[in-house]
Amino acid sequence: MQTPKKDSILYPIGMVAKMFGISVATIRLYEEQGLILPQKSDGKHRYYTQGDLNRLACIRKMIEEKGLNLAGIRMVFSAVPCWQIKGCSKKDRDNCPAYMQSDDPCWIAKNKNSVCGDEDCSRCPVYNELEDFSNIKSILSKYWLS
Ligand code: SF4
Repeated sequence: MQTPKKDSILYPIGMVAKMFGISVATIRLYEEQGLILPQKSDGKHRYYTQGDLNRLACIRKMIEEKGLNLAGIRMVFSAVPCWQIKGCSKKDRDNCPAYMQSDDPCWIAKNKNSVCGDEDCSRCPVYNELEDFSNIKSILSKYWLS
């Protein structure tokens, strides 16, 4: 298994499904859609941190209260300027499909030529910045003027 994130209690997928009153299949769908990146054991069992649970709660809220669909949430995630957070150079940006070319979150859009191609995105400040994206404007406004 990947080395769990620091201070992480890991919740197995079945327990998480019960906690949220949704099916395991629904959680896997969110993963397939790039909305959540679970920790995986060597046996490919999925585990979720408290940060993942917060993200899942936000996803459910956006769907149930705001009427967003999964594609809409992906678009929200794609708006975060990863290149600013990571301090990517112009050369890095020019070689990265996540930069202005995709309406997918960077952890979906990136490729092997991306400066962070081999990084574990579940540990990245960009991915973790969206743990609670209910006020996306406040997240983005941090980078608009910087
Ligand atoms: S490491 Fe992953 S989450 Fe972080 S900026 Fe790169 S693609 Fe995005």
